[in-house]
Formats: sequence, structure tokens, C-alpha cells
Amino acid sequence: MSKVCVAKFGGTSVANYPAMCNCAKIVTNNPNTKLVVLSASAGVTNLLVELASGNLDAQGIEDRMLKLSQIEFSILNDLGNPKEISEEIQKLLHEIKDLANHAIIEHDDALTDRIVSYGEIMSTKLFTVVLQSLGFKSKWFDVRTVMRTDNRFGKAAPIIEVLSNAAKEKLVPLFDGETIIVTQGFIGSNAIGQTTTLGRGGSDYSAALLGEAIPDCSAIEIWTDVPGIYTTDPRLVKEARVIPEITFSEAAEMATFGAKVLHPATIFPAVRRNIPVFVGSSKNPELGGTWVRNETESKPTFRAVALRKNQMLLTLQSPNMIGACGFLANIFSIFAKYGISVDLITTSEVSVALTIDSTGSQSSGQSVVSEQLLNELKSFCKVRVDDGLSLIALIGNGMSQVSGTGAAVFASITDVNIRMICYGASSHNLCFLVKHDQAEKAITELHHKLLEANPQEIK
Ligand code: ASP
Ligand code: MG
Repeated sequence: MSKVCVAKFGGTSVANYPAMCNCAKIVTNNPNTKLVVLSASAGVTNLLVELASGNLDAQGIEDRMLKLSQIEFSILNDLGNPKEISEEIQKLLHEIKDLANHAIIEHDDALTDRIVSYGEIMSTKLFTVVLQSLGFKSKWFDVRTVMRTDNRFGKAAPIIEVLSNAAKEKLVPLFDGETIIVTQGFIGSNAIGQTTTLGRGGSDYSAALLGEAIPDCSAIEIWTDVPGIYTTDPRLVKEARVIPEITFSEAAEMATFGAKVLHPATIFPAVRRNIPVFVGSSKNPELGGTWVRNETESKPTFRAVALRKNQMLLTLQSPNMIGACGFLANIFSIFAKYGISVDLITTSEVSVALTIDSTGSQSSGQSVVSEQLLNELKSFCKVRVDDGLSLIALIGNGMSQVSGTGAAVFASITDVNIRMICYGASSHNLCFLVKHDQAEKAITELHHKLLEANPQEIK
């Protein structure tokens, strides 16, 4: 079989009919693109999260349903309101409303995932018809028949082996060299067929997982609203530039530490099969984009600087830590029990400080740190919680192998109060925490001094 390219389009890329037409052009210009993975149209998942919350009254539900219908109907209108798909979307909107009413009476995470999954169902149904209206053969595919996950509603983990077998059996045979298969990002299903979601922004991850599961996949394209991965957020620093190519390791650090372009988990399936990932703008594909690969020609010490807001710093202190074995194991087993991933850690003789992403990017948007968790930690040690912090990560190559990295970084931001530093675990990053209100200044300074002047290269 010829090479397969998986193309994923984000919410803004499928926000309306003209945007969908840009996507259609990109898809049909590349004969290798056999699978298209879509997010929900921009704004839809947020509305669905609200509808699923169970906190709305009848009027609140009406308001959200109206906004939702406007997004979907505008696409249908531009398509000329074809009967079949118009009826189908109407039916789906009715189902959403029924489920939202149900959520008021009895709210649970499984229901939330079921409700939020409708965004991707509708965008893919519509895009399938958009392709057909432009004269191309396309087929809607329910990703839940292959994307098997565990039961963690809101942030489900894929079960790679099941996905891989199911994709070979049910998805790959549909690639006939002519038909473009359109499927959903973000959603999956557990072993008993309940709908799950992979967490907010999870469609990139879905595309990479599907790419990994398709034996002939040669590229995964992530089409979004920016022409690639930037040296930093261009909304913060206008001198930020697109990075033409970046290694998997650096891109993974960037995604993890706040660059919004890629969902943090996206890189891992690509790395496992060494499939290059392209990031570009669906509105301006001629601007090119960023290629993420195993190896790149340049290996600058400082490639980018990323910002992640809403960090929570937990400082756990106990005299029992002195010379003790197993203290950290106990602490971490508590985090594991609550399914919370810890990002940065530093320790001293009697305390350990660690950071957590406050929302944990759950589909429901709720904080991952519960009273229950804190009480459990308190039975072991003194717990101090600081929030209002931001994490800054410098990303590059060989950072811990050359002298002067720390000096260059901290000399650039002498008047910023550094709350915690992590350095050395990976040669690709140096991270630290700062107060939220100093973060943008720090990013700007670091970008000016380390990324705009003369990017340092490792010999
Ligand atoms: N629609 C989902 C979200 O808004 C997934 C995605 O866009 O990747 O989070
Ligand atoms: Mg998205």
C-alpha cells in the first residue's frame, strides 16, 4: 500500500464552512491523505462542557443550545441545507439537549464525556458532506470502534494494543486509494462501549495514536490556526519566530511545558514509530510550518521558551523525612491513587516541593486537587499550597552539558523572583516557577536575550 498521511484539523480550522473548505483543499491536494481527524468546531466543546455540568437551569440550557445550533446551522446553511445531514444534525442537537436536562438531575463523568463527544461527532459528519459537496469521495468513521481507552472519563488513556489491532481490522481496509475517511479526535470508548474523552485538546493525540496504529503512516499533520511551533507565544513577544524543525524531545518538552500548539501526549506515539509530525496553519498553508522529527540539522542550546500558567506548588514537610526510606514513595502513591501527575520536584532534607497543573486539563475543567487528597497528604506531613504561579521552561539541546547555561538564563532576569528551579533531569530543558504577574516579563526578557541575539549552537 502507498504511504498514508493522517491530517488533523483543530477547532478553529473547522469553525465554519469557509474554514472547512480550506481544510478540504489541504486534504485533497495531498493524495497520501487518507485519514482526516477533526476537533469540534471552535467554541463547541466549551458549550458542551457547560451543558454537561449539571449547573444550568432551563434558561441556561436554552442559551447554550442556541449558540450551539447557530454554529452548526451556519455550516449547514452554507452547504445549502441538504436534507439528510440537516436532519441528522437536528437529531444530534435534540439528543444533546435531552442529555443536558438529564445532567441536572443526575450528573456523572460518564455522562459528561457522552455529552462533550457530540462536538466531534457533528464536525466530522459535516466535513464528510463538505468533501462530498466539492466532488470528493469521503466516508464518516466512528473512531470509538477503534479508539479503545480505559475508564477514566474526562482524561482516558488509550489502550494501544487494542487500538492497533482494531485499526488494522476496521480502519485500514477502508483506504481504497480514493475515499477520504473522516473521523473524530478527542473521543474514544471503554471496554463496555461507553464514550470516553482523552482530555481537553486531545484531538492531536488522537491523530498521532491513529497514525501510530496505521502500518504505512508516513506523516502526521496537525493543522491549526498558527503556522507552526513558535520560539515563544507570539501574543506575548512579537519577535517570536516559527521554528522550521525541532526534535521530538524538544517538542515534547515544549508541549508539556505550555506551548499550546500541540497536546503534550502527541509526540509519544510519533516517537514510538518515528513518524514525522508537521504543524501548520490551515488558513495559510503556503506559510509552511514546523516539522518535528527524530533528528534536526541545527541543535541550538536555546530553541524556545514556554509558559504554563495555573501552576500549584505543594510543599510537603516532615521531620520524618530525615534519613527515612519510603517517605516519597508514600507521598507519590497518594498522588497516583488520585490519578494526579506531578510535574516538577525538588527536595531538601525535610521537605519536598512539587508542582501540579491545577486543572490537570480534565475535560470538565475542574481542579484535580481535592480536599480529600490534601487531607490524605496531611496525615503524613505538613502541607503548604501556593498558587498563582507560572512555570517557565527553556527548551533546547545539551543544556546540562555546557557551562554557562544557568548563568545565561538567570542573568537575563535578575529582577524576577524565582520560586523553584528544575534543571538536569533532561538536557532539553531548564524550568522554574515565578509569580504569575512576573511571568510575561520573564518570558520577554529571556526571548530577547537568549533567542533573538545570537542563538547559541552546540559544537
Ligand atoms: N474539542 C476538544 C477540545 O476542545 C478536543 C480538541 O480540540 O482537541 O478540547
Ligand atoms: Mg483544540
